[in-house]
Amino acid sequence: MLPFLRSDLAQFTAYTPHPGGADGVPAIELDHLDTNENPFELPAELKQKLAWTYQQEIQTNRYPDGSHHGLKSAIAQYVNESAGLAGANSIQPAHITVGNGSDELIRSVLIATCLGNNGAILVAEPTFSMYGILAQTLGIPVVSVARSATFAIDLTAAKAAITQTQNPPIRAIFVVHPNSPTANALTQAELDWLRSVPEQILVVIDEAYFEFSQTTVVPELAQRPNWLVMRTFSKAFRLAAHRVGYAIAHPELIATLEKVRLPYNLPSVSQAAAQVALTHRQQLLEVIPTILAERQQLWQRLAQHPALQVWPTDANFIYLRLRSEVDQTTRLAQICRELKARGTLIRHTGGGLRITVGSPAENQRTGDRLEAILNEIGLRS
Ligand SMILES: *Cc1c(COP(=O)(O)O)cnc(C)c1O
Repeated sequence: MLPFLRSDLAQFTAYTPHPGGADGVPAIELDHLDTNENPFELPAELKQKLAWTYQQEIQTNRYPDGSHHGLKSAIAQYVNESAGLAGANSIQPAHITVGNGSDELIRSVLIATCLGNNGAILVAEPTFSMYGILAQTLGIPVVSVARSATFAIDLTAAKAAITQTQNPPIRAIFVVHPNSPTANALTQAELDWLRSVPEQILVVIDEAYFEFSQTTVVPELAQRPNWLVMRTFSKAFRLAAHRVGYAIAHPELIATLEKVRLPYNLPSVSQAAAQVALTHRQQLLEVIPTILAERQQLWQRLAQHPALQVWPTDANFIYLRLRSEVDQTTRLAQICRELKARGTLIRHTGGGLRITVGSPAENQRTGDRLEAILNEIGLRS
């Protein structure tokens, strides 16, 4: 190991975006159902509009707008509209910061709250892996608690962790609403607990799947200076390629996140793409009901299979395990491999399989291929 490197980093491996890998797969068209993107691209006319903006308005020799002024105003408008907020309680640009994907925002939050032995984070597993990964690369301790059979957070354990964790204490809690990979939204009991968390602890509520769940805590933000809501353009808004995420919180917290971020974190084209998406949000979000109807169909098909345990979902993906515990991990890995060999990429994570709801044709193939594989390995329908 090179002698100038931090020794604690030796144990990490670089993030693999597609752990199943698109490599080593036969030359067939792949169904990318492992990263929870929207199955539909930007409509051609909006892509053209964006291309026009690039040609006519973006000067490639100039730095991007580092203030994100126009984008923040557009986001504020969308957030208020979708949460039914107006007047004194409405979200202003000062409540918003924009990141190079939510991933950057997670790192900024960690830097602003926990770095330098100032704090540890609390997560409930299984959950989005980036909180733990980014914390560890910054030397920030990660405290994990478990979830119940319905994937509700073990609140007794969470409360105990908060009182017992010292040197450093827990400074930030990360939850996803609805959770990934398990697809469940926060329960009333979980929300009540988050409301009762001491104000020295930041509560991050990641609403990456808000447009699918249509459930948000944004209306509560005005009363909760220690809450931060995170969202992304990578999922419902079809812009994963452009890496745009945003956070909504108390202006003082936002101002601090602005201090620790990189000055030109968001390329001009990405800012333009997010603005185009917001301007045309009605058109873009029109496909959400279609995706939800597809989800319902695929869910029913999978839930009917006697070998599968399928959980309810509030997001654009489905989480399942095998009913039989026998060799569960090995079998799930095998199913994942077999699906990949047939051209369907899904995620084996948290002790189960997470399958993105894709286009109608993709979902049909997912059901067909999964049933065939279960048959082959002796888990008959
Ligand atoms: C997909 C996802 C995100 C989005 O991350 P980006 O960096 O904005 O692409 C954030 N949080 C969760 C829980 C996700 O599943």
